[in-house]
Amino acid sequence: MPAEYQLVEHEYDVIVVGAGGAGLRATFGMAAQGLSTACITKVFPTRSHTVAAQGGMSAALGNMGEDDWRWHMYDTIKGSDWLGDQDAIEYMCKEAIPAVIELEHYGVPFSRTDAGEIYQRPFGGMTTNYGEGTAQRTCAAADRTGHAILHTLYQQSLKHDAKFLIEYFAIDLVMDKDGACKGVIAWNLEDGSMHIFRAHSVILATGGYGRSYFSCTSAHTCTGDGNGMILRAGLPLQDMEFTQFHPTGIYGAGCLITEGVRGEGGYLTNSNNERFMERYAPNAKDLASRDVVSRSMTMEITEGRGVGSEGDHIFLHLEHLGPEVINERLPGIAESAEIFAGVDVTKEPIPVLPTVHYNMGGIPTNLNGEVVTLKDGNPDAVVPGIMSIGEAACVSVHGANRLGSNSLLDLVVFGRAAAIHCGKEITPGKPHSTLDNDATDRVLSRFDALRYADGSESSAAIRLEMQKTMQKHAAVFRTGELMSEGIDKLEDIWESFKHVKVSDRSMIWNTDLVETLELENLLGSAMVSIKAAANREESRGAHAREDFPDRDDDKWMKHTLTWLDKAGKVNFDYRPVHMYTMTDECEVVPPKKRVY
Ligand SMILES: Cc1cc2nc3c(=O)[nH]c(=O)nc-3n(C[C@H](O)[C@H](O)[C@H](O)COP(=O)(O)OP(=O)(O)OC[C@H]3O[C@@H](n4cnc5c(N)ncnc54)[C@H](O)[C@@H]3O)c2cc1C
Repeated sequence: MPAEYQLVEHEYDVIVVGAGGAGLRATFGMAAQGLSTACITKVFPTRSHTVAAQGGMSAALGNMGEDDWRWHMYDTIKGSDWLGDQDAIEYMCKEAIPAVIELEHYGVPFSRTDAGEIYQRPFGGMTTNYGEGTAQRTCAAADRTGHAILHTLYQQSLKHDAKFLIEYFAIDLVMDKDGACKGVIAWNLEDGSMHIFRAHSVILATGGYGRSYFSCTSAHTCTGDGNGMILRAGLPLQDMEFTQFHPTGIYGAGCLITEGVRGEGGYLTNSNNERFMERYAPNAKDLASRDVVSRSMTMEITEGRGVGSEGDHIFLHLEHLGPEVINERLPGIAESAEIFAGVDVTKEPIPVLPTVHYNMGGIPTNLNGEVVTLKDGNPDAVVPGIMSIGEAACVSVHGANRLGSNSLLDLVVFGRAAAIHCGKEITPGKPHSTLDNDATDRVLSRFDALRYADGSESSAAIRLEMQKTMQKHAAVFRTGELMSEGIDKLEDIWESFKHVKVSDRSMIWNTDLVETLELENLLGSAMVSIKAAANREESRGAHAREDFPDRDDDKWMKHTLTWLDKAGKVNFDYRPVHMYTMTDECEVVPPKKRVY
């Protein structure tokens, strides 16, 4: 171990890395059961990306019309383009109802109906009666639902005495020689000290990797750090080819305009002032699934019907809703449109463009949140000591395309499931085994090498090249040729990272070093993502290939697993999609053509 790093040692029953919706739900659930729990986060908990979630969280409460969790399950399977695991989707949709009621009781200030019940709005792909009508299923706190949930969960965690380590950057997992996780090493950004956190389970809730693209709705903190840790531990990521483009990012700025706007009656038009979604999705129209709307918008622009001086975007209208509805239901949207597009939404349309929004792929887990890998032919072999939840994880409930408002649900349901599992499996205060020094040396040597990196390229320049390459070569529509060019470029960028320069050697608030560590994590996710996309020769959900326009269930109804080596080479294997249910309270939804 480089001599200058003295590790401060801590022992907990569980460590949660990440204080977004998933991390906080798990943290307080663990602490409430008497497990000593610490939550490590690189930003203040209520500044986590979840705070930006606008539209709401789905649950078939039926407050605003008839609803059933089986209809929700059907919509989610169809939305996933039959790549989601049906047992996991059953669990999530059924547990949604108690999970949202629990949140209400913990103090989330949901908007209300006249009868005083939780207000629910329509969202894309959410239907009644197995695809016949439009469901009002998305529970909303105005257009600031993530903000409301995050603050409530943080307060609950503090109430249950969870320990928070704020502005600590988790560098890597501590893996023993048998492949079990024994803890995590983190750097205190404020005073420069280094810490080892021993735990019986480390739960990665580090969020997505939207920042591997140039234009995205994600916070700057969404750098796939948990994904990077998993790849460096020699473990695979799953379904990384599936990146969701949200139809309505503000043109030029990338900030999100929630689907809740279209749920409240907003609609899209092209340069002919035509509501073109009526042609692409005659039933669901502007409320078709996100991948369908994003592709339709892209086709309108490509065929010369985009708006603006360069014909390169689309208009989203909500003027007709009137100031009263806008001020009550969509106040944050009005504010964002004013700030980022200079638009008064009561008078003029918002210029919008499909923008990277969500990562369906991530760390493969089972229903308890335990990380799984393919071992000795077993596709569900549990890796001891590591769990993952939230956008970092791939359970898989979203398959090839996530439905809007199913992510906040995923965070809460699986954060809770992880806490329940640890409560059953871990005896509070159980002693920790001894650790060989090699495990910590590996982590600190990598950190040290980056800290003193003295090449010729800045991490900012390398990051920009990566983001532009992903934006161009792994976009809404893909072809083998386009991706192959992108892979060549990304391999060059990977090489250039060997010549990175970190200009600041300090251990205190060294943002250049933080960004370099984050860049390495982003590069890993980007590499497996584009290579997995080139490998999957079909179109499914968010993965739309012009050279393979159809879904191919015979060859491709399977999850992709990707391992990454130090040279940037990706190895592939596959896991079967779970085409079975957990109980006999519902039926398997057999694959069929996906139309809206
Ligand atoms: C603008 C926007 C609006 C959205 N609206 C909705 C919506 O209405 N409904 C819905 O269902 N979904 C919505 N989504 C998606 C949803 O918000 C996200 O998928 C979700 O919030 C992710 O939560 P998370 O807990 O997994 O991660 P995050 O909220 O991203 O939290 C990650 C945490 O990990 C920590 N972390 C990361 N790396 C490290 C490290 N190395 N060391 C220490 N800590 C680390 C961070 O500090 C942070 O606390 C929206 C997304 C966007 C971009």
